[in-house]
This record gives sequence, C-alpha cells and structure tokens, in this order.
Amino acid sequence: MRFTLLLALLALATACRVAPLRPRPMEPVEPPPAPKVGDEIVVCGERVSIGAPVVLWTQFPGYDSYQLVPDPAAKKDLQPGEAPPMVLAYEPGRSRKLGDGMAEVLVAPASRDRASLAAVVDQFVLHYDVCGVSRTCHKVLRERGLSVHFMLDVDGTIYQTMDLADTAWHATKSNPRSIGIEIANMGAYPSKAAPVFAEWYARDDAGTYLRLPERLRGGGVRTEGFVGRPARQELVSGTIQKTVYHQYDFTPEQYASLAKLSAALCRALPRIQPDAPRDAQGKVTNAVLSDAEWERFRGILGHYHVQLNKQDPGPAFDWEFFLRLVREELRPPAP
Ligand SMILES: [Zn+2]
Repeated sequence: MRFTLLLALLALATACRVAPLRPRPMEPVEPPPAPKVGDEIVVCGERVSIGAPVVLWTQFPGYDSYQLVPDPAAKKDLQPGEAPPMVLAYEPGRSRKLGDGMAEVLVAPASRDRASLAAVVDQFVLHYDVCGVSRTCHKVLRERGLSVHFMLDVDGTIYQTMDLADTAWHATKSNPRSIGIEIANMGAYPSKAAPVFAEWYARDDAGTYLRLPERLRGGGVRTEGFVGRPARQELVSGTIQKTVYHQYDFTPEQYASLAKLSAALCRALPRIQPDAPRDAQGKVTNAVLSDAEWERFRGILGHYHVQLNKQDPGPAFDWEFFLRLVREELRPPAP
C-alpha cells in the first residue's frame, strides 16, 4: 500500500519535472461581465419591483454613492504629493437645517424607517446629466463631491447609487425632501449650432440617432449594440427661465423606464403626486418656482423649478407625454 503511494508520488513528481513548459495559447481578452440587471429598487433596505431594468450600487459596474471621495474643496490647498482628505458625497438619513448649525433629524441614519421616509419625501427632481451616458455622469458627480439616487442611461437602464433613505446632493434646498435622477442627455443650448449636437447626433435612413463619440468606447451602455434615437427627430426648442434653448429629446427607452420608476416612487412614497408644477392655465411651468410655490409643491419637478440658474431637464423633456405614461402606470388594472 505504502509502496504504491510512494510510486504514485514519484510518478507525480517526475511528471511535474518533465512536463514541457509550453507557452499558453493566446486567449481572447474577455469583455467585462454585463451588469446584472433586475427590476427592483431599494427603499429603506426593502426591494420594490418597478418593471424596468435596474442595476444596484452593489452590482457591477458599482456606481456607488457610499464610497468616500477626495474632498473637492481641499484641492487648491494641497502641497505637491499630498493626498486630499476623503469625505462623504451624500448625507446619511434625512435632516433639516435649522440655522446656528443645528439640524432636525427627520429620518435617522440607518433607521431604515419607511413610514418616516414617506412622511418626509414629497418631491422627485429630474435632471439631465450633460455627460451623455451614465458612466461619465457617475464619474463627474464623484469628482464634484455630489450624488444622486438614480441615473437613467440612454438604453433605459436605471442605476440606483444609494438607498432612498439617505440624502443625495443634487438640488440644493430640495435635497432633504427629494429623490433625484440624472437622465443621460447632452443638454440644452441657446444656439442651434452648438458643437455638441454635431458631435453626438447623426442621421441615417431611419432618422436621427445618438452617435457616442469614439473616445467613450461604447460609454458603458449596458445593452450591447444599442443605438439610441431621440423620441423626436428634430431639435426641440423651448423657453426655460425666459431664455430660448435647443435640445435633442430623450430616448423612448428613457421615457418608458422613467415612467415606471416615477409610478413606483408615487406608490412607495405617496406624498409624491404624479404631476408637475402648473400655471394658472394648467400648463407645466417653464421657470423657477417662488419660495412659497416650492414649499407647497409635492410631485415631480425639474431642477429648473428649484433653482433659477438651472435649465434641466430642458425644453425637450415632454412633460405631458411623460405624465400620461406615469398615470397609465398608476391606473389599477381593469377587473
Ligand atoms: Zn440638475
């Protein structure tokens, strides 16, 4: 028995010694794994199904607002070779500033209390990212020490970067009471000839399509081979904050996912009404709200409704079409 074992070991050792060191055949470089995709967002640690593709911060490619960032404010004071201090780019829980540096805690960090979150959050703020794709948007937010709960890419994939229980830094005074989303789009400009339009959009037989610049190498868009097309072919012109801007529309995939997400938020946090700020004639307003109007408003609004210095989501965002989709999602199924 022992002898057999010895022989076997000897054979193994010999085999090891004489095994030719053949060069390994060239293996094709594996592309990175496609992000896992589900259809659930996270609200106070609980999963909520929304019926649109969702990639969470815990999943590849890891768009995670909980990771510390180099303090953007410290940059100018650094000595050569000195590392900046690492800081948070969001606020744990929800609280309201009272002045004198005091704050009233509305949702305690890590309490994960959905009832208290639903009592506090009553606005869903829509942004365009001026980055064109969510991968770049995440990078830019990190560099600036900012955060947002969701990013919506051109193919309709939603990336959730943090739990809704925590405060994202995306819309100044609305932060404590809001959820934020950055929708991938290159933004709105006063000139129809803005160079960004020629760089990002082209025409083929089927019409206008989104041509991601070569340097982005696919831009991290999850859907392989995806060709995005604006919901309307031509540049859309419209007035925001009393200035005329031009912009290409969002993709149908973005509208569809945004409507499903918005309906889910209205259900999960019912103080968010499925409507936008309207004027006396019932039209969605195209300028910043007064302090009193902003205080009163509960629902879905643009960043430009919160701040005078913002235009997003821009004149191409089709509010009525979008809100109709949200209301359809919210309609109970026929018995
Ligand atoms: Zn914005």
